[in-house]
Amino acid sequence: MPLTVAIDGPVGAGKSTISDQVARRLGILHLDTGAMYRAVGLYCIENNVDIQDADAVSALCTAQKAKVDVRYQDSAQRTLLNGRDVTPLIRSQEVGQAASAVSRYPLVRKMLVQRQQEMAQSQPMLLDGRDIGTVVLPHATVKIYLTASAEARARRRMLQLRDKGDQTPFEQVLEEVNARDWQDTHREADPLRQAEDAVLVDSSELSFEETVQAILSIVEAKQ
Ligand code: C5P
Repeated sequence: MPLTVAIDGPVGAGKSTISDQVARRLGILHLDTGAMYRAVGLYCIENNVDIQDADAVSALCTAQKAKVDVRYQDSAQRTLLNGRDVTPLIRSQEVGQAASAVSRYPLVRKMLVQRQQEMAQSQPMLLDGRDIGTVVLPHATVKIYLTASAEARARRRMLQLRDKGDQTPFEQVLEEVNARDWQDTHREADPLRQAEDAVLVDSSELSFEETVQAILSIVEAKQ
């Protein structure tokens, strides 16, 4: 079985950027599974599908109307929605909220989890998300639960938004972080939780490089 590294954790823990760097240093591909949920969220926004309507969103999966796939360009992930590269369109707060809403529906999860498992079967990979160690890859070689305090995560999120010219105040970002945490940990379908055999990495007091190093040493120790 190829090497599989599962990184789960709450919103704003730096999972995507940290995972990207860890995967590069290990020389393996990184699959950001959140991007796939975001693509389904984007479909709903663009096509006026009510994200609170479980039947309407689930019907998209049965009718294969929102087909999500991933390909790699120079080892960087491109996320495809019905064959269209939507990578630059899925990073907004609005799409993030929509992703969080649609990820509650079991059919959406089933469709995306299947694709994620297929990808990890054929090549060494690092996957990051909410349910990788618990559902997608229960037998992953290494499982990490990457977290940080809600305040630390909101602060980082706010700085990222500032870089994009978004001036959302700290209190609002913190509120959104807490709302997403609540939604991700309280949904019925595959809620966010730490797998029993996952190693906890709390990055509240760690720099980016320290967090990358902490994860690399855990991977090395397991290999
Ligand atoms: O990680 P990111 O913020 O891009 O994920 C967007 C949303 O997709 C999350 O809030 C979460 O609800 C959902 N998600 C999920 N399972 C995953 C990855 C993301 O439910 N494996």
